[in-house]
Amino acid sequence: MIRTRIAPSPSGFLHIGTAKTALYNWLFAKKHGGRFILRLEDTDAERTDEQYVQGMCEGFKWLGIEWDEGPPFGDIPEKGEYGPYRQSQRKHIYRKEAYRLLEEGKAYKCYCSKQELEQYKDDTGNLYYPGFCRNLTPERIREKGDAPYVIRFKVPEGETIVEDLIQGTVRFNNNQYDDFIILRANGDPVFHLAVVVDDIYMKISHVIRGDDHLTNAPRHIMLFRALGADLPKFAHHPLVHDEQGRKFSKRMHGANVLDWRDDGYLPEAIINYVALLGWTSEEENKEFFTLQELLEKFTLERISKSASRFDRRKLEWLNGLHIRNLPVDDLRDRLIPILEKHGFNTSTKSKDWLTKLAKICQEKLPTLNRIVFLSDFFFKDFETYEPEGEKKWWSQPEIVISQFNLILEKIKNIESWDCDNIKKAFEEICSQQNIKIGALVNPTRLAITGKTIGPGFFELTELLGKEKTIERLIKAIAYLKNKGA
Ligand code: GLU
Repeated sequence: MIRTRIAPSPSGFLHIGTAKTALYNWLFAKKHGGRFILRLEDTDAERTDEQYVQGMCEGFKWLGIEWDEGPPFGDIPEKGEYGPYRQSQRKHIYRKEAYRLLEEGKAYKCYCSKQELEQYKDDTGNLYYPGFCRNLTPERIREKGDAPYVIRFKVPEGETIVEDLIQGTVRFNNNQYDDFIILRANGDPVFHLAVVVDDIYMKISHVIRGDDHLTNAPRHIMLFRALGADLPKFAHHPLVHDEQGRKFSKRMHGANVLDWRDDGYLPEAIINYVALLGWTSEEENKEFFTLQELLEKFTLERISKSASRFDRRKLEWLNGLHIRNLPVDDLRDRLIPILEKHGFNTSTKSKDWLTKLAKICQEKLPTLNRIVFLSDFFFKDFETYEPEGEKKWWSQPEIVISQFNLILEKIKNIESWDCDNIKKAFEEICSQQNIKIGALVNPTRLAITGKTIGPGFFELTELLGKEKTIERLIKAIAYLKNKGA
């Protein structure tokens, strides 16, 4: 049985890099009929914040990355038979395993204080424990009485080989690892012990995680062996870099997955884009993927070894494609809350009207939030016109006024107010006046929407309604007369 997990530390929001790790684990498990586990690495009480636990779970839920096993969240109870799924509730297990290693002589008590050890560093300047307490005699240990101690793992000699599904075979000389702490003086486990014990207890078959953990893998492998467990398969995928090629900083907008929701991105697009941050399909140049397609095509073998750069424009492009891919009713339902959030009362409009709005804007939405710009004039009157538009389309007010009067004359008589009839009316004026349709439509668009761009003109005019269209043309005439005076 394939069992994968995402094991975030809730010391921050759901980072885009964590979302990528979760997605790869989730896709891999689902593709193989396995299970995907959410485990919270919250042993560090000082850094853990319930607000982040909520934010992370909400982020996964928004993306549609549902866990098969995991801690309770909102109305969802704890799921799975290997719980609890929060490390803070599993401390007794880590302690038990640490003391087992101690009894079996694979770990030892260390009484050295932090201050005493400050001067011992490796070539790269990191602290390196020289093993002072490794071979304390039973008498020496007895002499220490109840002095505080940590438990350290006895790193064996030799080398540790990581057979990685993405990185290939990576060899590490064990002498680059000191006898690392597994249990702190207060009885709390260190990350390495907790991760390995949980992966064993939760029967994790594949550890898929960021390659910043590749150098931790040897420590974990040593611990798996010392605890007498089989190794899971490892797959370390590259990190996500920002557009400048640096580590994607937590402080940047967009590092938090939920920023994208706020910005009007679809979870479908984020999933698609995040999958491509390291993975490519066999089909050349194919970049648009639905979740279903990803489930069919995703393989660990096609994950690249090098870090990928975040590209906001590409994400926006993909988002537009996913918006266009939505059934229009679905799009409508996603647009309504955004309109409401911006103070537009959608309950005054019929469902049919809202569906039409979604339809005429669908092609023009790089993000859902763009709907505000594309449709605000339907919901509220405006006092000003786009200055660039005035320059471009209203530079000869007398002509524009006479055109508007012709339009008013004509559309008054339209009985059935729909796109085709409105278009017919405009075309008739154009042929009588011998002008191009754009010369009539563009100034009118400015009059009735206040803007130079937006949804298709005849479609929007239909939706705006006859009365409003007439009212706004009259208002624009008054404005233009005033301006000319
Ligand atoms: N808590 C670790 C992290 O967020 C997870 C490590 C692991 O997946 O083994 O990076």
